[in-house]
Amino acid sequence: MRQLIRQIFKSEGYVFATKAADISKKAGYLKPARLASNENPSAPSKKALKQAEEALYSGNRYPDESGRALKDALVSYHGDYRFVTGVGMDGVIENVIRTIVECGDKVVVSTPTFSFYRLAVEAQGGVVENIKRRDDFSVDTDEFIKACKGAKLAFLCSPNNPTGTVTPVPDIEKILSSIDGILFLDNAYIDFCDTDYRLLMKNHDNLIIGMTMSKAFALAGMRVGYAFVPEWYEPYYIRAQTPFNLNCVSMAAATGALLDGEYVSDYVSEVSEWRERFINESGYPVCQSGANFVMIDVSPMTGDEAVEKLAGLGVIVRSCVSFPMLGDSYIRVSIGEPWENEMFLKAVKEIKNP
Ligand SMILES: *Cc1c(COP(=O)(O)O)cnc(C)c1O
Repeated sequence: MRQLIRQIFKSEGYVFATKAADISKKAGYLKPARLASNENPSAPSKKALKQAEEALYSGNRYPDESGRALKDALVSYHGDYRFVTGVGMDGVIENVIRTIVECGDKVVVSTPTFSFYRLAVEAQGGVVENIKRRDDFSVDTDEFIKACKGAKLAFLCSPNNPTGTVTPVPDIEKILSSIDGILFLDNAYIDFCDTDYRLLMKNHDNLIIGMTMSKAFALAGMRVGYAFVPEWYEPYYIRAQTPFNLNCVSMAAATGALLDGEYVSDYVSEVSEWRERFINESGYPVCQSGANFVMIDVSPMTGDEAVEKLAGLGVIVRSCVSFPMLGDSYIRVSIGEPWENEMFLKAVKEIKNP
């Protein structure tokens, strides 16, 4: 029966950090430091939990298909913009691609970056053109713009996963003014830096800004993503979406979390303190990061070797070897709870000078 499956799904999909977890377990760490997925290490905000619990009681009914309460909360939080929602930002990305990409269409991706853009474009029959970032991982805007000629859609991530690089607002503005297609700007980590792209929505009708509740807002398990969209685009997005999309508990959790600005700002300041320490104390070259993780060059080791050694010391991080156009000597380390961060700083010194 397997011959019935489309070719595209016969090759490997999204890479999860499961191997490192097995090594830590075998080395006897029952509670390893989990620094591979850029999650907020704390439980969600109390306000999120309370609203989610209440929503469970109406679980017999289909959710409000317009997602009104969540959209109102987004307007209160961000101001007067148009929003669409999805099952994680991954769900938003998938649905945006569904509205735009026909079989054989070219989609431009600023690389190295988050791998799901490519997986989702190819699943829809599109073809990805990777445009390599410069050696310092900044975006070569001229090259990017050139590649966008004839492309209906392009992806750029800022702060970028896995490098942490923040692209300056004027660079994004230049791209928006120079391309004919739509730019999907992935802002999954925007809360951890001082850059703000939202105002670009006012003057550009070819910008979609993707956001997630999975990182700063601590709702990764709830799967809530959303995007700022131009007004003209909203009805097409909704037509392409499954009829009842986000579940009522997730929507309620996100609505509650948006009410708790203090929860996020406390976490963000903790992250910036630890980020400085990771940059200064890890003993390896670390990229400047605007996110809740850092990318570290562990050469002469490979990323895979470093991940295995760290896992043996009870610290699970992500190897960047699977990211195209990055080389094989990088690891990505999330900022976790203080005990996890201390454990990482100790272990990274140990693998450098065993
Ligand atoms: C985590 C992440 C997402 C997706 O998050 P969801 O959990 O699907 O909302 C999107 N883009 C980047 C760059 C990410 O790191």
